[in-house]
Amino acid sequence: MGDAQFQLPVGMHLFERGWLSSNNILFVSDTGTALVDSGYVRHAPQTLALVQHALQGQSLDLLVNTHLHSDHCGGNALLQQTYACKTLIPSADMPLVERWDETQLSFDGTGQECPRFTADLGLQEGQLLQLGHLSWQVLGAPGHDPHSVVLYCAQEGLLISADALWENGFGVIFPELEGESGFAEQAAILQLIEELDIRLVIPGHGAAFTDKQAAIDRARSRLDYLAADTKRNARNAIKVLIAFMLLDKREITVSQLSHYLTSVRMMRIAVEQLAVPATTLLPQLIQELIKAGAARLEGERLLST
Ligand SMILES: [Zn+2]
Repeated sequence: MGDAQFQLPVGMHLFERGWLSSNNILFVSDTGTALVDSGYVRHAPQTLALVQHALQGQSLDLLVNTHLHSDHCGGNALLQQTYACKTLIPSADMPLVERWDETQLSFDGTGQECPRFTADLGLQEGQLLQLGHLSWQVLGAPGHDPHSVVLYCAQEGLLISADALWENGFGVIFPELEGESGFAEQAAILQLIEELDIRLVIPGHGAAFTDKQAAIDRARSRLDYLAADTKRNARNAIKVLIAFMLLDKREITVSQLSHYLTSVRMMRIAVEQLAVPATTLLPQLIQELIKAGAARLEGERLLST
């Protein structure tokens, strides 16, 4: 389904990374260089190597984050140590980064890591951003994350969609776990994307794709399914968080997992919503992760596949 036959404008490079790290998009031109999203901390040296290689001696001028989940900004610190890059993040996150509020920034609540970085400027909705020789419009994209943005280049018909739209789905609708609205916002961003003239979508995870409408149709049906019963969203969130944890730590024991389900805040909240006793839930989750191909079980050890 991934469409390898797309062409990016000259000077624009996509590093497709996987699920532990978000994709990175690098812009190289004689007027300046920029990187959108920096992956997870575990991959930070690899991110830096990819950037350095493609820059061929040029420095990185600008670092932009679509949102501040650990898999999108975990390479920021290393990039900032290496380059004097100006860093732009969604404006609502500016005070949180300034005081490095790990609770509000989601790292504590998800059991994920992100080394401290600094930010220079907040991205404003509707603002135009120059990346390489292309002009991009900053569009607010709440739903997955209330502060997330996506970037749209009208001239080339390109959308950097972050976790608002993947070829198959979108990121966990986290706000709903905490009793805030997220489904309606996700529906609205899908509507907005549908109305834009787009020839290629560059998602936060997975391959770039050209069939925007098919992806939107799949995302809508997924959203309808989740929104029909918030327990589905909670269950999905737990599994996504465990799968990420497995990619990060490679393996965890069943008793560690049991501990995480009560100690990692977002997992605990989701478990509470399911209202299933932990002794029943734990084996169910393990079976579902195995069935989904995200884990395998060896005795007491749950391993990343
Ligand atoms: Zn995200």
